[in-house]
Amino acid sequence: MQEPDAASTSEFNSPNLEVLIDSQQLQKRIREMGAEITRDYAGRRPELICVLKGASIFLSDLARSIDLNITFDFIAVSTYGKGTNSTGEVKIVKDLDEPLEGRNIILVEDILDTGLTLSYLVNNFRSRGATSIRIATLLNKPERRKIKVDADYVGFDIPDKFVVGYGLDFAERYRNLPYIGVVKV
Ligand code: 5GP
Repeated sequence: MQEPDAASTSEFNSPNLEVLIDSQQLQKRIREMGAEITRDYAGRRPELICVLKGASIFLSDLARSIDLNITFDFIAVSTYGKGTNSTGEVKIVKDLDEPLEGRNIILVEDILDTGLTLSYLVNNFRSRGATSIRIATLLNKPERRKIKVDADYVGFDIPDKFVVGYGLDFAERYRNLPYIGVVKV
């Protein structure tokens, strides 16, 4: 069998992508966020709730930067479908495994865009009796906000561009990129 041409098959060095935040910048900022959370939650045992699938890679690096006795849970919601425009609808497609009553929650999200997803989740978690809820988002697009949501820990503010990589997809592709990129159109 003939070997495929490495240059033309590389996902990491795709000519269709422009690097917006490289891997070193991501790792440095995530370590800082982990240190902030470690300091703010000293003596407590926060539960990190990861919004699947996009935040999974961020969660795994952030969690390893938090020097506390933490636990995880996972939730999946559908908002976007396969396209690049939000439909405005939020639906839980995979719910949490454990009750939230009395827990100090840190919601871990890949990107805060219109705010629909996180405002829905914060209200939902409040109604389930969480003691406190904070938001840690890797990326924030302030220009796109439709509903006021304030994140407590923000990795990077970015411009209104559709980004991929480090968990974020375009039609399920690019989640494994070690950097945040913009798809060239
Ligand atoms: P919001 O509800 O704040 O509008 O959107 C949050 C969700 O929309 C994110 O979790 C993510 O799935 C999706 N999203 C928003 N902006 C982008 C983007 O630039 N790239 C990708 N891949 N997904 C995005």
